[in-house]
Formats: sequence, structure tokens, C-alpha cells
Amino acid sequence: MVRVTTSDIAQGLRNREFILHYQPKASLVTDRIVGAEALARWQRPDGTMLPPATFIEVAEHSGLIKELTMQLLSTLVHDLVGKHLEEGLHFSLNVTARDLEDALVTRAILDAVLQYGLSPTTLELEITETQALQGGASMLWNVQELADVGVGLAMDDYGIGYSSMDTLSQWPFTTIKLDKGIIGRMLDSAKNATIVRSSIRLGHELGLTVVAEGVETPEQHDFLVEAGCKVAQGYLISRPLPLDQFDLFRRDNGKRRGMPIGLVHMAIVDHIQWRRQMVSYVIQRAALPADSPLRQMDGYPAMGVTKCALGAWYVGDGRYFADTPMYQAIDAPHRALHEAGARLIERVRAGAALADMMPLLYECKQASATLIRLLEDLEDEGLAALYAAPPDYSTPPA
Ligand code: C2E
Ligand code: CA
Ligand code: CA
Repeated sequence: MVRVTTSDIAQGLRNREFILHYQPKASLVTDRIVGAEALARWQRPDGTMLPPATFIEVAEHSGLIKELTMQLLSTLVHDLVGKHLEEGLHFSLNVTARDLEDALVTRAILDAVLQYGLSPTTLELEITETQALQGGASMLWNVQELADVGVGLAMDDYGIGYSSMDTLSQWPFTTIKLDKGIIGRMLDSAKNATIVRSSIRLGHELGLTVVAEGVETPEQHDFLVEAGCKVAQGYLISRPLPLDQFDLFRRDNGKRRGMPIGLVHMAIVDHIQWRRQMVSYVIQRAALPADSPLRQMDGYPAMGVTKCALGAWYVGDGRYFADTPMYQAIDAPHRALHEAGARLIERVRAGAALADMMPLLYECKQASATLIRLLEDLEDEGLAALYAAPPDYSTPPA
């Protein structure tokens, strides 16, 4: 590997030799490009192009990383401005603990976004857990400030850190990026597959976007679709591309096959959890004296037909299946379920005994059984369609 020195980097910064390549991220739900990760490249005057592995660490140790990050940020903003980007596209930049520890850097990030009229939600910062753990208290403070205005935050290389749960709970992450090593191994054993599936489920329950990195084969793609992963990045979709090629790629959208079938499975599990929470709430409260103030407290699942996770899916990603009879049949039992649930909450609050609430609980159960059967039928049909559709992975390798 080429050895570069601090003064080489300083010189490169003065000459603005660092550029960004963009690796597209594809939605596994809609097939569309939903953004890109910006990756640094060093374009040397002699015509060679150096990968980040040759200079990021040196920049970090020499203290030049902040300058590099700020320069790349300004490049990113310039690359994006005036592009008529579609709503909802996200562009991410990799940052280090040193960057986020410095309020000047995070200020510069905010200023750049605001000055050029970019929506803050267009920008996402990627940081590895190891980096997140290195930073002091000031870092969390700075990050929170960015999160408050809507800048996204992705935990990079998820799955190879050591206390992801703790970091996840303390930081305002909006995305987790499953590490490419884990994605590369997930089809090698049932254990690895389970780890990926449960990580996707965890992200789903925490309301985070889960991005799978390093997706290289159609088999990996299909596994992720089935597991309910929403976004994929990797050579299968495209290598990192220079800006002009990325623009072309973005316009020539929708070549891959998407099928939000894994999300049907998520909806089934969400619904089962909803029903269990309702039943558990009723049984626990019914055991209390009729006049217990605890009976008035919350503890029941999300009410409202579009507020629960199944309902959010129904009016959101689930609309993909809007033309199927199963989808259309879901509405009625779902409404019946919520009506029975609302009546149960009323009865609990009014001090009813469990025996008096059994008919309503039974109604819930019946509506739920109908719902699950419909969702399972939808899932089976979707799976059949996923594996019957001829794949088109015609992206030419760069
Ligand atoms: P990363 O953030 O995990 O970025 C993903 C790396 O995986 C990229 O390498 C990308 O080209 C590569 N990759 C993408 N798809 C596939 C695939 O399907 N298979 C395989 N085997 N690899 C794939 P790259 O561009 O060489 O970047 C390496 C690392 O350098 C990045 O890892 C990131 O940690 C760091 N880096 C890149 N740009 C920046 C930057 O602007 N700032 C900072 N601080 N770090 C950067
Ligand atoms: Ca990254
Ligand atoms: Ca990564």
C-alpha cells in the first residue's frame, strides 16, 4: 500500500485533491435509489487515485482529519446543490470521533446545510460504534444538536462492536448499517442468518432504518428482502461512482427487483406483539381492585387503526399489495380488533372483572386470527412472486 505522510495530506488539502465517490443505496421495498454513501478518494496530481485506507488513519493521527472532513462536507454540499434531488434522498458522509467532538465542525455542518438551502434530513453522518465510544461528553452534545435539526445519524459497521445496545440507546441514531462482513457470512450458517434477521427486527422495533452493506449476490439480496431489510448497498447494486456516473445511475432507476415481502412478516410479528400487550394489559389490570387508580394508567398498545405498527404498515409500505384481495380484506378485521380493544380499555377503567371482559377478549382473538391468516396468505403469495420473477442484475461492474 502507498505510504503517505502528514505533509502529503496537508499539500493535498491545499490543492483540494480529495474528492467523493458515491455508492448508491437501493430501497428493497420500492426498488428505487434512496441515496448514497459518499466515500473519499484522493486524486493525486500524477493521475493515481488513492483509496481511503491509505490516508484516513494518517489524517486522524495527525489531526488533519477535521480539515479533511470539512473540505469533504463542502464538496458534498456543492455536489448536491442544484441537483433537483427527489424528496427523501439521503446522502451520508463518514465522520470520526475527532470531528464530532469539535463544536466548530458540527457548527460547520449545520451552516453548510443551511447556507445552501439543503434540507438537513438529506444529510446523514456515519460513525462506527468504536468511534462513538471514543468521544467525550461534548460529542454526544454536538450530535444531539445535529439530530435536533433533522440531520441523520447512522451507526456504521453494526454488529462488530461490543456494546452496540448501550450505544444505540444513548445516541440519537436514525439508521444502523449492518457490517459487510456479517452480510457476507449470513448465508454460511443458520446462526449467522439468525443474527442478521434479529438485527433487522431490532432496528424495526426501534424505528431505525436498517441498511445492509456489502450486498454482492442475488441470494443475499433475496434473503434480506425476506428478512424485512429496507435498504441495501453493495457491489450488486453498484460500486462507488464518480458524481457524473452516479447521476446517470440515479436517473436510470429501478432495475433491481424489490418486493417488500419481509415487511409482511414484520407486520405479522408486530400484530402478535400488539395483541399480547392488549391481553396482558387486560389480565393484569383486571386482577386489581375495581377502584385501583392503577386501572386508569396507560399500558395498552398503540390505539388507532393507523397508529399501531400493523396500521402504519397498512397505509405505508403495505400499499404495495393494495391490488390484492388479501390486502383489501385486512381492513375490516383490523378495525374490529381496534374497536374491541377500545371497549376493553373502557371496561378496565370502569372496574370490570375479567369474566365480564372475556367476550370482548374473544372478539379480539377472532379478529386477530383472521388478520394473521390474511397476512400469511399475502406473505406466501409474495414469496412465490419473489422467486418466480426473473432477476435483472444488469448493473455493469465499474
Ligand atoms: P465504510 O464506511 O464501511 O465504507 C464501505 C466500504 O466498503 C467502502 O470502501 C466501499 O467501497 C466498500 N464496499 C461497498 N460495497 C461493497 C461490497 O459489496 N463488497 C465489498 N467487499 N466492499 C464494498 P472504501 O471506499 O475503500 O472505504 C473504506 C473505509 O474508509 C470506509 O468504510 C470508511 O470507514 C473510510 N472512509 C471512506 N471515506 C471516508 C471519509 O470521507 N471520512 C472518513 N472519516 N472515513 C472514510
Ligand atoms: Ca460508512
Ligand atoms: Ca461500513
